[in-house]
Amino acid sequence: MSTKGTLRVLQLYPRDMNIYGDWGNALVLQQRISWHGYTPELLEYNVGDEFPADVDLIVGGGGQDSGQLIIQADLQARAEDLRALAEADLPMLVICGLYQLFGKFFKTRTGEVIPGIGILDVETHGTDERLIGNVKVASTEFGEVLGYENHSGQTTLGSGVSPLGTTAKGTGNNSGDGHEGARYRNIVASYLHGSLLPKNPAIADFLIQHAAERKFGHFAPGSPDDTYAVLAREHAGRRPR
Ligand code: GLN
Repeated sequence: MSTKGTLRVLQLYPRDMNIYGDWGNALVLQQRISWHGYTPELLEYNVGDEFPADVDLIVGGGGQDSGQLIIQADLQARAEDLRALAEADLPMLVICGLYQLFGKFFKTRTGEVIPGIGILDVETHGTDERLIGNVKVASTEFGEVLGYENHSGQTTLGSGVSPLGTTAKGTGNNSGDGHEGARYRNIVASYLHGSLLPKNPAIADFLIQHAAERKFGHFAPGSPDDTYAVLAREHAGRRPR
């Protein structure tokens, strides 16, 4: 079957950074890329692997502090390449643990400093408070974003990024400013698991659109089937907390 072309999606560190169903984000991208008429290719990058060439979209998940410690040296070795891709407007989605490490640093609850790669102007401090529960975010770009958070790190945004949105339920980045996630170039960073993309197809399509535009000069949308996304959003909306 002829398609509009191939889009290569790379998942960063799925072995160590992939909790609360974050793998679902890669699966949604795969499915929606093919619904839009393109051919998806799913790739994985784990510690010590050779970094694949010609990547069109990057997605990375959350992880325990221990997972973040496992990947930190390898991530530093990849920092320059990832920064160059980010500055060249490659679309990326980074969730929770990788959101923190795309920032300047994550100082854990026990005082250990895990350096980040500084693509995002954010910093994160571990606390004794664990922020857990369903989250509803008002985003001017993506409408109402729904997800689930579970983190002890609290992130503050510098002037180089904008928040993904404002929390209408749940906590998001930190217990102080009512912001959730971060936006920079074509990067979407968020604390939300659930996973995020099955319930928020607008974010998936944003990433796919920018991947296609970068590679082919334009994006020709297809007809994605949103039946399950609608059901998942309805179901999430009924949850009491
Ligand atoms: N270890 C980090 C924290 O607790 C990230 C957790 C996560 O990815 N869910 O803040």
